[in-house]
Amino acid sequence: MEYKIYPKVKEELKKRLEKYPDHKVNSINVNVTYDPNNEFSKWHGMKRKDIIWYPKIDENKCTGCGLCVVTCSEKRNVFGYDPEKRKAVVLFPNNCMVGCNNCQIACIWNAISFLDFSMVKNMSEGVLKTSPDLIKNEITWKIKNQELSI
Ligand code: SF4
Ligand code: SF4
Repeated sequence: MEYKIYPKVKEELKKRLEKYPDHKVNSINVNVTYDPNNEFSKWHGMKRKDIIWYPKIDENKCTGCGLCVVTCSEKRNVFGYDPEKRKAVVLFPNNCMVGCNNCQIACIWNAISFLDFSMVKNMSEGVLKTSPDLIKNEITWKIKNQELSI
């Protein structure tokens, strides 16, 4: 089957940057925002800003394909893109979903890295131990309010 992914990604990237112009950056205009959106300000009761979990991009490896930008959901929309340099940038690190690494998997150029995943697992285990009902209640609430998408 003939299937080319890149023209489609290019199209999606263009649409994303048109819809969210503040995600289109250039070398003199990159404002990284460490404050998460209100809805992501807590992770199971912990301050999101205290958790170091977000993608890091190795500029030397980034080919500017844009796959990470469009892989991240519009709700999280963590990445910006510099069309002149043809590089993705991490603009809203703390809007990244703790434990997600979809963009890292999508990046076939191996330009995206995260801190050790075991840190997230340890935190999750801690939450389960200290507040076993918290996760259950949160999931019940999200199902009720149809907020299970990332
Ligand atoms: S970080 Fe990877 S997926 Fe994102 S634009 Fe660069 S090469 Fe593409
Ligand atoms: S890990 Fe998931 S939420 Fe975080 S930036 Fe990547 S795709 Fe977006």
